[in-house]
Amino acid sequence: MKLIDGKVISAHIKQQVKAQVDELKAKGTEPCLAVIIVGDDFASRTYVNNKKRTCEEVGIKSLEFALPAETTQEELLELVEKLNADDNVNGILCQLPIPKHIDEKVILNAIKPEKDVDAFHPVNAGHIMIGDCVLKPCTPAGIMEMLKYEGIDVAGKNCVVIGRSNIVGKPMAMLLLAASGTVTVCHSRTQNLTEITRSADILVAAVGKAKFVTADMVKEGAVVIDVGMNRDEDGKRCGDVDFEAVKDKASHITPVPGGVGLMTVAMLMQNTVTAAESQNNRG
Ligand code: NAP
Repeated sequence: MKLIDGKVISAHIKQQVKAQVDELKAKGTEPCLAVIIVGDDFASRTYVNNKKRTCEEVGIKSLEFALPAETTQEELLELVEKLNADDNVNGILCQLPIPKHIDEKVILNAIKPEKDVDAFHPVNAGHIMIGDCVLKPCTPAGIMEMLKYEGIDVAGKNCVVIGRSNIVGKPMAMLLLAASGTVTVCHSRTQNLTEITRSADILVAAVGKAKFVTADMVKEGAVVIDVGMNRDEDGKRCGDVDFEAVKDKASHITPVPGGVGLMTVAMLMQNTVTAAESQNNRG
């Protein structure tokens, strides 16, 4: 079994991004990411701090807009519009979840597609579908980078994705398809799940259930990618894959922590610099 090390691969991506940032700065552009956080959710605060720290690492300027939980939808929309119009801001992200009284869809759809560094806007989702996207959703894009780095060719492989969310499962399936994988998407209504996952050469688990993927669900020699971020019965961080049981069956496997999560942040940096480059080129 080979461990796919998110630490090593994300460092490689960040190094590339830093070089792109330096090039942009030499031309007089300082890439800038605006991060909006509404309320005081502990996990969201941790993610935002991590994003800001990584911006600093690669030389991207970050702006934080921390709004109180009682912010209205109109106030939040106003901020998004202001950032959309600001030529010094290249990327905008609104940390999810946002409080229930605000319609998440309305906010995400208000972000200008060319500044939508999470790539959640329907325009960007459409580009992924067509196969000509510039900004790719960070988690699936990070997984594609992991496969590339490890020299794992997707073309012709049986790829099984467990999960069909708009953030992970669906775009993951599209990127694997664009790389000529034969893709099956499974979800909570899937019948004979184990039979399907056992046919996978590349298995991606994005379920949100601790240690959901057990050894009997994995084919000998499969590549296993674990997107999950859960806590086990002892409160320890773990993925959607029962790592200890699966690791000896897999040819390659991502750990949790230290796997896909690190790639997600690195790809956010990549998207911000890509957005800055394309906005810069348009003048
Ligand atoms: P989500 O929106 O809750 O989607 C979960 C998916 O799993 C749904 O499509 C659901 O099916 C499916 N599912 C649930 N139970 C199932 C079962 N018994 N059999 C088969 N499929 C089942 O979650 P998400 O946003 O995609 O995230 C998934 C996991 O990845 C979470 O642990 C999340 O924290 C983590 N995550 C990690 C990163 C990272 O950077 N590492 C980024 C994003 C998310 P239905 O559609 O039928 O309900």
